Amino acid sequence: MYKPNSKHAEEFIDHQEILDTLDYARTNKSNRPLIEQLIDKAAQCKGLSHREAALLLECDQPDLIERIFHLAREIKHKFYGNRIVMFAPLYLSNYCVNGCVYCPYHLKNKTIARKKLSQEEIEQEVIALQDMGHKRLALEAGEDPVRNPIDYILESIQTIYGIKHKNGAIRRVNVNIAATTVENYRKLRDAGIGTYILFQETYHKENYEALHPTGPKSKYAYHTEAMDRAMEGGIDDVGIGVLFGLNTYRYDFVGLLMHAEHLEARFGVGPHTISVPRICPADDISTQDFPDAISDDIFCRIIAVIRIAVPYTGMIISTRESEATRRKVLELGISQISGGSRTSVGGYAVPEEENSAQFDVSDTRTLDEVVNWLLDLGHIPSFCTACYRAGRTGDRFMSLVKSGQIANCCAPNALMTLKEYLEDYASPDTREKGIRMIHREVEQIPNPKIKEIALRNLREIEEGKRDFRF
Ligand code: SF4
Repeated sequence: MYKPNSKHAEEFIDHQEILDTLDYARTNKSNRPLIEQLIDKAAQCKGLSHREAALLLECDQPDLIERIFHLAREIKHKFYGNRIVMFAPLYLSNYCVNGCVYCPYHLKNKTIARKKLSQEEIEQEVIALQDMGHKRLALEAGEDPVRNPIDYILESIQTIYGIKHKNGAIRRVNVNIAATTVENYRKLRDAGIGTYILFQETYHKENYEALHPTGPKSKYAYHTEAMDRAMEGGIDDVGIGVLFGLNTYRYDFVGLLMHAEHLEARFGVGPHTISVPRICPADDISTQDFPDAISDDIFCRIIAVIRIAVPYTGMIISTRESEATRRKVLELGISQISGGSRTSVGGYAVPEEENSAQFDVSDTRTLDEVVNWLLDLGHIPSFCTACYRAGRTGDRFMSLVKSGQIANCCAPNALMTLKEYLEDYASPDTREKGIRMIHREVEQIPNPKIKEIALRNLREIEEGKRDFRF
């Protein structure tokens, strides 16, 4: 039976409730008055239930679908303005004891080069990332209790935070490692991580078990309840996601929203981010083997409906997606993207070593090219980590977003971190475009006091006085 605030995976992701929801959506997909009523409800920016969202995703009326897209653009703009937060993944190790059939790191893959970075190699990677201009990382590692124990992850985080190279510093380390114990989550919290990210892959238990035939990850409940343990361990920013294409998208879309509802019901704060990766080719993985892979059209609709169903949650897209797809979905709700990414272990310091990669990158542009492109599209690339550094995480962050006050912090901070990037790392063309954008945006800051502070900080950055907590 469906119990959103239960501790048990099979109650907060109740299979029958998902089936009933899909049935409800199918039955009502042409019910115009009901769909219009839900779009109006979503326009109040208080979110939608998983049932309501499932119906909007199923809607088959072209004009109503267009209204959903329009609303997603509006809500994106209302909460996030034109800011896009930049990050990069950092792969520490691709040793893994699991048997996930969609991931080339699976134990039985003998063709992929296995690698684990030493602390010295991590330092080289971080310096290469800092030289690009990155301030925010997502750490990635396969699950291997012997080769990648929690102490290795903790030591790596400490190494990363300790590297100060030229004007560079990694200010926020998000962590994407396997489901673990409350005690280990507490250690991650104490190490000062930003968001703990873990993808569910699929919420469909039977398919989950078939896709994860061996290894600790094969335990559906332990994996699905990981965010509960993370929150019990004191991590209040968690990031959820599914790998679209492993299972039918409708089922996983509903499961994803039920997971968000569960976190809100049990801990009073929903997920900090939702990621929307799609299955893509890699070493011994072919997308042909996944009949549920989704089209661009469906992908855009999923993103738009998530945006209006959970308006306060950040949404992330990686370089799995092409430039063209990324361009479309930035408008519809994505608030964070990676740039200049390497998905191989050690790939930033030694870029030609690509045979240890977890997936093939579609968007292969450098960070500077991505920043330049975002500026052309009218977005502000942001390297800001201020909320995390000032302790505005979990429910404190959410209440700022919900009250709309976040705009007062985010817009000027985004401009200042962009300015730092332009001063230290940008190509002449990017710099010129960025400076123009900053001038335009500063003029639009409505609060005169905040505008004055922003102008002063921008001047100080130009003069090389960097003592800000962005
Ligand atoms: S998805 Fe994660 S757990 Fe599974 S094989 Fe890949 S790295 Fe290992």
